[in-house]
Amino acid sequence: MSVLITGANGFIASHIVDTLLNSGYTVIGTARAESKFEPLLSEFKKKYPNANLSYEVVADITAEGAFDDLLKKHPDIKYVLHTASPFSFGYDKSFEEAYFKPAVEGTKNVLQSIKKYAPQVTNVVVTSSFAAIMRFTPDYVKYTNQDWNPMKLEECKNEMEAYCASKTHAEKAAWDFVKNEKPNFKLTTVCPPYVFGPQVFDSVVTKTLNTSNELINRIVKTPPTDELVSEPSGLEVDVRDVAKFHQLAFEKESAVGTRLFVVAGHFTGQTILNILNKHFPNEKLAVGAPEKDNATELIGYDIDNVLESVGGYEFISLEKSIVDAASQYLKKFGSFKQIE
Ligand code: NDP
Repeated sequence: MSVLITGANGFIASHIVDTLLNSGYTVIGTARAESKFEPLLSEFKKKYPNANLSYEVVADITAEGAFDDLLKKHPDIKYVLHTASPFSFGYDKSFEEAYFKPAVEGTKNVLQSIKKYAPQVTNVVVTSSFAAIMRFTPDYVKYTNQDWNPMKLEECKNEMEAYCASKTHAEKAAWDFVKNEKPNFKLTTVCPPYVFGPQVFDSVVTKTLNTSNELINRIVKTPPTDELVSEPSGLEVDVRDVAKFHQLAFEKESAVGTRLFVVAGHFTGQTILNILNKHFPNEKLAVGAPEKDNATELIGYDIDNVLESVGGYEFISLEKSIVDAASQYLKKFGSFKQIE
């Protein structure tokens, strides 16, 4: 039995592929073009010479029936992990075209195709986000997996808000689909906040990284200052843990049917700067105000029910996520100063 993973060339998805291959699953990935997955396929073949990994091109996930042929061709698919969704900024398109359509229509299309052509699929996991949980408020809120971002498309003022609203609407569309269409499969969603950590292979590291890790690049460029580096700030989790939770999402019966809000801890720019200065002193980065880091006072979370549903879990520390990601950059580019 195989696992289908959409957007399998992405930062998080490539770690999910790694985790699944390591556990012995047969994996079928999708990407928008062959050129997107070829470098990964050759790396995975080197790492797992006996692995069953193949890729299929799905050029446009918003097209009706986009996944029909793929699911007809692979009647062995038992689990589907839908990760493909836009998570970058600077599109020259309306919020609807850039974020909503791919996020919401993409999700509905996968689910519809599974219902029509793959009744053997038992579990679907949708990669949602903390963006679907949080509210844009300056108040301190202790978030749980029961919370929903209330924002609507027409209220969005910038791309970040549009991204967050698109994730909310896509996740809601998935839960509504299950409620209304009563398919054979069970749904679980994974809702990570900022995801840090290394790329799955050193060879795929580029000067500009995926959106969440690119924050590290922003922080290393902080001008020398005595001020607290408070931006960005939020909750975080390591990519390798997010990958494992995608697996637990269909393997752990007690987690199936829930929203897996996965958080390792808090951060601000200052927290990251402190870690970088501790481990990479030769880089001579800005110091900020190390003692004043207020990351834990800005936002709260309670994920006890999530941890209980998977039988407990030890998250990778932010320190390790940042050190592993930064070491990978430095190995390739020599110094942060060369990362423009
Ligand atoms: P990446 O940008 O690395 O991966 C995104 C994947 O989605 C790529 O395969 C990309 O394909 C695909 N994709 C993007 N836009 C479209 C589109 N319009 N049509 C079809 N496919 C598309 O991001 P991440 O790995 O970080 O994100 C993966 C998932 O995790 C997303 O759903 C994101 O919302 C979610 N997430 C990410 C977090 C993070 O901090 N990284 C936090 C919370 C949730 P292509 O390469 O062709 O663009």
